[in-house]
Amino acid sequence: MSEKKSKGQALYEELAYEKKNYFEAASKAERKKVFAYAEGYKAFLDQAKTEREACAAAVKMAQESGFTEYRFGDALAAGDKKYFVNRGKSVVVFRVGTKDLEKHGMRIIASHIDAPRIDVKQNPLYEEAGMCFLKTHYYGGIKKYQWTAIPLALHGAVVLKDGTEVEIRIGEDAKDPVFYIDDLLPHLGQEQMAGRAAKIIEGEQLNIVVGGMPYPDEDVSKKIKLTVLRHLNEKYGMCEEDFLSAEISAVPAFPARDVGFDRALIGAYGHDDRVCAYPALTAVLNGETEDTVLAMLVDKEEIGSEGTTGMQCKVYEDLMEEICLAMGASFRKVRFASKCLSSDVTAAYDPNFASVYEKMNAAMLSCGTCMCKFTGRGGKSGSNDASAEFVGELRKKFAKEGVVWQTAELGKVDAGGGGTVAMYLAKLNIDTVDLGVPVISMHAPWELISKADLYSNYLAFLAFMK
Ligand code: MN
Ligand code: MN
Repeated sequence: MSEKKSKGQALYEELAYEKKNYFEAASKAERKKVFAYAEGYKAFLDQAKTEREACAAAVKMAQESGFTEYRFGDALAAGDKKYFVNRGKSVVVFRVGTKDLEKHGMRIIASHIDAPRIDVKQNPLYEEAGMCFLKTHYYGGIKKYQWTAIPLALHGAVVLKDGTEVEIRIGEDAKDPVFYIDDLLPHLGQEQMAGRAAKIIEGEQLNIVVGGMPYPDEDVSKKIKLTVLRHLNEKYGMCEEDFLSAEISAVPAFPARDVGFDRALIGAYGHDDRVCAYPALTAVLNGETEDTVLAMLVDKEEIGSEGTTGMQCKVYEDLMEEICLAMGASFRKVRFASKCLSSDVTAAYDPNFASVYEKMNAAMLSCGTCMCKFTGRGGKSGSNDASAEFVGELRKKFAKEGVVWQTAELGKVDAGGGGTVAMYLAKLNIDTVDLGVPVISMHAPWELISKADLYSNYLAFLAFMK
């Protein structure tokens, strides 16, 4: 290499666009911040394996930052720091800004805190062949065979006959037992392995082993089931009928861990979408802003954003309207001036499955948080296609704050697709675009992300709020 760039090379660098690896672009001091931020994120992940737990963890963090609970009808004033809990499963953490609401609108970051998992059925318990099992119905888009032969923890809530609610969380402590979905040994798996991957393990085979010790009484026919029931009764006050009003989920029992000799990556359950929810939350808790900012951590995204805790529920719109009312602003005017980042993960380019990506428009690991101008499938069907104007506005902000970021589509054209909550916010007349962290092995029991992308996502949110 010559010491001086040739004229053509300098011109090329000036005119051409190339993605940057954020680790490479970052100074030593900045890399330190990237790593420090990841520690807080991993701790959050280990506390927040279900939407209920993520909601509780977010509320705790908000309280520690001086935020107080808001209920519909409460008075609000500029500078207020509040959180609004929706049925214990979703939470909106927000700050009321000093800027004129009607003129400047709100800055919204919407992420989800539910993740694919294995839910226990309402009548689940049975005993067979020396084992006791729970029947399940999976939640979200999973490759069923990935959830067998790994340690599972049980998390959830049970409403007992008398109305008391008990929390279940077992399998996370090193001393706890864990649970297990079995798979067939390869020696007898010839026929299974010749089948379609979708059918290797069928939904009704996802039964969780929860016991194996017979109750010592000859007169009892279902001895192992009784041992399990007695344990549930002693520990949680449950009887079998209480499963009818329970929400219990099996999730991977692994904690979040650094991956790689250089610890650049994080492996964990549920990066989708806590890897956006945690930065959204911390940005609203810590960011400098004069705007009214909201981090919406919502539920049910993995099953279509339905129900009273999903993004399609009116409750989020009602909350925004209540804030406007309390501040004496017209909701119509406010939402027209509002901006939203729909923050969900995207697929990171995976060289081991290169054929489903178009490399130039794929999210590259460690090249920063990733904007998807549109999502959807086929001819952009079912997509919120953000305008060039809104993308341009964000681009300018990110450049000003030095955010390393990238754009991508989820896979090559017609390879598949997906979508998230952007369209529901756009429907309210709020400019919205998707922005989130690229993930390897999305929806697997243990997903992979880059610490650089996590931190870049946080920096992008801070810039968005400025
Ligand atoms: Mn997601
Ligand atoms: Mn997902």
